[in-house]
Amino acid sequence: MIIVLRPDATSSQIDHIVEKTKEKGLTPFVTRGVERTIVGLIGDERILAAWDLENIPGVEKVLAVLKPFKLASLDFNPERTKIKIGRVIIGDTQVVVIAGPCAVESESQIIETAQKVKEAGAHMLRGGAFKPRTSPYSFQGLAEEGLKYLAKAREETGLPFVTEVMDTRDVALVNEYADVVQIGARNMQNFALLKEAGKYPRPVLLKRGLSNTMEELLMSAEYIMSEGNMQVMLCERGIRTFEKATRNTLDISAIPVLKDMTHLPIIVDPSHGGGKWKWVAPLSKAAIAAGCDGLIIEVHPNPEEAVSDGSQSLRPDKFQKVMEELKVIAEAIGRRL
Ligand code: PEP
Ligand code: MN
Repeated sequence: MIIVLRPDATSSQIDHIVEKTKEKGLTPFVTRGVERTIVGLIGDERILAAWDLENIPGVEKVLAVLKPFKLASLDFNPERTKIKIGRVIIGDTQVVVIAGPCAVESESQIIETAQKVKEAGAHMLRGGAFKPRTSPYSFQGLAEEGLKYLAKAREETGLPFVTEVMDTRDVALVNEYADVVQIGARNMQNFALLKEAGKYPRPVLLKRGLSNTMEELLMSAEYIMSEGNMQVMLCERGIRTFEKATRNTLDISAIPVLKDMTHLPIIVDPSHGGGKWKWVAPLSKAAIAAGCDGLIIEVHPNPEEAVSDGSQSLRPDKFQKVMEELKVIAEAIGRRL
């Protein structure tokens, strides 16, 4: 349920609604917009149905959110979420580029990559310290040592970083180091992990599951948000289809469709989407043209030697060229890189 307040509603009227809501065992989410304030109410539908909200002073109208996702729905925040990470704002006019290796392999590898992607114009760094590998015998990541190297790379370059967490027991640790916590495709419906990440302050980059619908992605975002962490960005990274020529099928339509469903920023991962470095540029161009708020791109100083995802990783010089091409597309649609 969403309560839209009158433009002249006073702060004591807003406080009264918040207090009453809590008394009834419901959770209020207050959004103060430029024009007016809205209060989202989450909780037992029966309590909400029995409460005559329209007669409370200061209330203009009450809207029922019919979609199963509430906090994530566009109705809840028509002004759209902007997530501030240092000097970077995700969900604004800039298309934010996050770049770096699939996995953190060594201190020198992540620092060198961070310096190169920064020179090319990337705004944030990526790198996995906990890797979700299909085989238990493959490299699993450097864990906390990897987080330390990422922090060092941030210190050297000023680039904030995003890194994945796979286990509820590591959420606190990853929150200590990272600027953005990634929940990967394979964990999109790990509800315990979603709830845990929702209890911590770091923004979450939530990747769409391998075979999940957009509605399921938004329900997973809802799990994080209902714990209090409203800073969620969604990531389209390709889904499983019958097509085998690409690693996944990048669902470009997810960008405009999600924009109609939610106020959360949309990031696109063309590297896992296509599975080959050659396709990163065209898929990124399509994603920007379709209205994404950011890209997450794999870059490795020496892709042949990469411990994971070498074939989809760009060399730094190629990444620099891609960035130049992407600038043109961003500007053509009234945004910037
Ligand atoms: C990754 O970003 O390195 C990753 C494993 O991505 P996904 O969860 O989308 O497969
Ligand atoms: Mn990868």
